Amino acid sequence: MSTDENETAEGSSANPRTESVDVVVVGAGTSGCYAAATIANAGYDVAVVERKSAEEAGHIACGDALKGADAFPDAIPKSQIEPAFTNTEVDHGRFEIPQEDTVLDIPVPGELAVIDRWEYGRLIIEGADEAGAEFHYDTVVQDVTQDDDGVVTGIRAKHDGDVVEYDADVVIDGAGALSLLQDKVDFSDATFDTNVSYSQFCSAYREVVEVPEPVEWSDALVFKPADVAAGYVWYFPRTETEINAGLGFQMTEEPMKLVDDLKKDLRARPEFEGAEVVDKLGAALPTRRPYDSATAPGYMAVGDAAAHVNPTTGGGIAGAAYAGAYAGEQAIVALEDDDVSEETLWRYNQRVMDHFGGRYASLDVYNILSTAVDVDDLMGLIASLPGENLAEALYSGTTSFSPALLLQTAVSSYGHWGQIWNFFKVKRLADELMAHYDRYPTRPSALAGWQDERDRIMDEIYEVTGADPKY
Ligand SMILES: Cc1cc2nc3c(=O)[nH]c(=O)nc-3n(C[C@H](O)[C@H](O)[C@H](O)COP(=O)(O)OP(=O)(O)OC[C@H]3O[C@@H](n4cnc5c(N)ncnc54)[C@H](O)[C@@H]3O)c2cc1C
Repeated sequence: MSTDENETAEGSSANPRTESVDVVVVGAGTSGCYAAATIANAGYDVAVVERKSAEEAGHIACGDALKGADAFPDAIPKSQIEPAFTNTEVDHGRFEIPQEDTVLDIPVPGELAVIDRWEYGRLIIEGADEAGAEFHYDTVVQDVTQDDDGVVTGIRAKHDGDVVEYDADVVIDGAGALSLLQDKVDFSDATFDTNVSYSQFCSAYREVVEVPEPVEWSDALVFKPADVAAGYVWYFPRTETEINAGLGFQMTEEPMKLVDDLKKDLRARPEFEGAEVVDKLGAALPTRRPYDSATAPGYMAVGDAAAHVNPTTGGGIAGAAYAGAYAGEQAIVALEDDDVSEETLWRYNQRVMDHFGGRYASLDVYNILSTAVDVDDLMGLIASLPGENLAEALYSGTTSFSPALLLQTAVSSYGHWGQIWNFFKVKRLADELMAHYDRYPTRPSALAGWQDERDRIMDEIYEVTGADPKY
């Protein structure tokens, strides 16, 4: 890496200090660390710019549930993050439905761990650091630099009151939900998805709580509906006596009083008597479909910055890790071809859509449905559906019903047939949407035509669900 220090007015905004690297990554979260490790492993110069201090970095608001822990990208070896897995015994979701006086135990497919999130955050930073990435802490990115052809050429940040510029061939935006960089880039010559609004996000808050006695459900992720349909409360056991308790709601709803509502729920549960709160954090997370395109010339957005989150569960760690790795690999292609155009970066979008983007977009359909139904009706419906299929639908985006299962469902769901019929119509459209994502374009110039057909399917979804258009 070369560093040009200005001799006369070092760090002043008139003559900022300039760092030159191959790739600059904004944010030392999961997406940023996996991108940086991938690029550093290939021998390129990569700087990770993080607004938090070295001590605070990695401390992120999270429910601490890590789904798919068995198959993470190997840019940072699994053995590196395993020490943060504090509970690997969880094998099912426990859905508490007070409206129906029911508890549903639903298996969670694949490997799942509840983790010490801050420790995990430190370990992935350590992993990227060991791969050769350089971390610049206490450095707040405030702007981007872009040339006359619209190519993003770097970022401008503040460190200790001084302006620092980073010149880079590729900028990777891993700055999390509602990333500031996206307000700064001029996307007029790019396909980058700018159809983004607050109502497509969820506001969430969590506390880490220590309880005096082991909880009985230490092998389960506990979910409970909040008072609004598009919201839920969770209790995830980090250990038998350390619980991550939180809640969130889609920002289309009347705002919940997150801190008070959580306190109320905790007070009503005998297992939390005498509990001590050891950490509190809240944040926004994208509970929407992934960005149609997360590229612009010289620029890629990864993780929460491009909505790579399962919109029904809010799980975003795995998506962030894979998006980071894919963007890192595409940045390497761009560096090797000396070409940072969207045509070259496009393969990154394709890999995201192919791996999980299409699935998350189809899961978003159920989120849209949940904003349009009454919470009691929804809970009645969920309580009447077979658990295995619910689990499948929750994670894979679709499920199938055999004739025998249909009959069983029809009997158990008596009283909800109207909603069930509607649910099946919605499911058919969600499947159609997923099939359309399988045809995600192979080049940027074909995106607009693909979006037209996708929007036609979305219009049908709004019509069937009665929901207000989300996009
Ligand atoms: C309350 C809550 C609970 C959640 N629970 C779960 C869960 O149980 N399981 C799960 O898988 N996912 C969960 N998620 C989602 C998950 O936390 C995110 O999807 C994941 O952290 C995204 O990683 P990321 O790297 O994209 O962004 P982040 O982890 O948000 O990292 C972004 C980084 O960028 C830095 N940054 C931001 N702006 C700037 C700037 N201007 N300059 C410099 N640095 C900047 C931030 O300080 C941060 O370190 C939850 C989210 C919330 C809010």
